[in-house]
Amino acid sequence: QCPWGAPNTTSISCSLADVMSEQLAKELQLEEENAAFPEVVAVAEGPFITGENIDTSSDLMLAQMLQMEFDREYDAQLRREEKKINGDSKVSISFENYRKVHPYDSDSSEDEVDWQDTRHDPYRADKPTTTPRKGFIGKGKDITTKHDEVVCGRKNTARMENFAPEFQVGDGIGMDLKLSNQVFNALKQHAYSEERRSARLHEKKEHSTAEKAVDPKTRLLLYKMVNAGMLETITGCISTGKESVVFHAYGGKSATEDKVIPPECAIKVFKTTLNEFKNRDKYIKDDYRFKDRFSKLNPRKIIRMWAEKEMHNLTRMQNAGIPCPQVVILKKHVLVMSFIGQDQVPAPKLKDVTLSSEDMKKAYYQILNMMQQLYKECNLVHADLSEYNMLWHDGKVWLIDVSQSVEPTHPHGLEFLFRDCRNVSQFFQKAGVAEALNERELFNAVSGFKITADNEVDFQAEIEALEKMNEDHVQNHGKKLAMFSGDGDPPIYDE
Ligand code: ADP
Ligand code: MN
Repeated sequence: QCPWGAPNTTSISCSLADVMSEQLAKELQLEEENAAFPEVVAVAEGPFITGENIDTSSDLMLAQMLQMEFDREYDAQLRREEKKINGDSKVSISFENYRKVHPYDSDSSEDEVDWQDTRHDPYRADKPTTTPRKGFIGKGKDITTKHDEVVCGRKNTARMENFAPEFQVGDGIGMDLKLSNQVFNALKQHAYSEERRSARLHEKKEHSTAEKAVDPKTRLLLYKMVNAGMLETITGCISTGKESVVFHAYGGKSATEDKVIPPECAIKVFKTTLNEFKNRDKYIKDDYRFKDRFSKLNPRKIIRMWAEKEMHNLTRMQNAGIPCPQVVILKKHVLVMSFIGQDQVPAPKLKDVTLSSEDMKKAYYQILNMMQQLYKECNLVHADLSEYNMLWHDGKVWLIDVSQSVEPTHPHGLEFLFRDCRNVSQFFQKAGVAEALNERELFNAVSGFKITADNEVDFQAEIEALEKMNEDHVQNHGKKLAMFSGDGDPPIYDE
């Protein structure tokens, strides 16, 4: 709610250019104002230095507080504009850099020492004496109570030390600054709200991989790739997900002759903020390929392992001829692969594309085939297969996002497969593909198992029994059950 009342203008232009020029205008205005009203003209000049200047300095503080209030409103407005521009778009631009920063910086206060009261040694920590219980000290007409203006003022100044360390209070004590209760209370309130604000800002900075795209270390990694000529340019962000940020880049030249870098690349940066990865532990923790390493690794390395896993899985798929991005290079938590799409426009997800019923049917059989290949030839279960992770490009379906993929013998591998089957089955049944198998039939078709249960609960129970059997077998014999590694060929379904 705007405190100045509802604005009349209904539509505010929100093209990037307009906003930018408005920014510029505001900044220019500020600059002009600063030039017209230099901050400390009066204080720096000799004749003006009288006792009254203390009040002036309080005014200055108040003015700064007011300024901060303005800045806060300005930032809020900026946030609104940012939100309006970005809407619900997955790809967002950030105005972070246009935020007003904390205007308190000490550089202008250095020359204000002039008005200090020289009766006191400014270099001696002159903490005010405490008032005893009875509420006054001294005798006769020299008695001072805690209400004494000077004592109280000094005390207030000393209490400023309790403000947050980032809150710059200056050398008020050394200067024998006497703050009135009113000013002190205002400052105190302000210090607290600033503390909260800076905590919020800080938190945002720490956790805004999505907004600011990447942290400095990642940016350096990306710079290096461009510098090495491997990438021509990084054009922008395609997607910011929970666990990764994906960029588009034009490929450059490879250092080695034998390797060709695709003309367009996708750069998947696995997020180094760990929160989202915590609940993915189960995928990697139980994957025997990573078992020995998991326990010893720090979180940063675990993130790298996701990238590594995606690379290995993509390579397996590539070798089996499954349409998927081709790995270009892996550096730490950054995976460069070929771009599925053209001219910076990524191929649409299956959920977003409108296909003719013929294409839809074609897509279905292709996916059925790919799932079988993935299981049999790559020894993998996608584990996050859905219309969100399949792209439609060049008249066929491409599989992406395989960092969480596991081998079928993973303790939960078959459950993941069943979930994949359910997603695929439901999607194509809704899309009107009459031939689409139901999730149980699809599971059998992909895995080669012949589970006969005709309802979901029993089916799932049998799946879990199979997983348990395999686990026990591994425990006792140190190897997997034969049926997991593809005797009993699954029937190949085709059009
Ligand atoms: P997430 O774990 O964030 O879902 P994905 O690997 O699914 O990560 O990538 C997120 C999005 O980025 C995808 O939905 C897709 O739109 C885009 N994307 C990812 N890889 C590529 C690629 N190789 N080519 C084109 N677009 C891609
Ligand atoms: Mn995805």
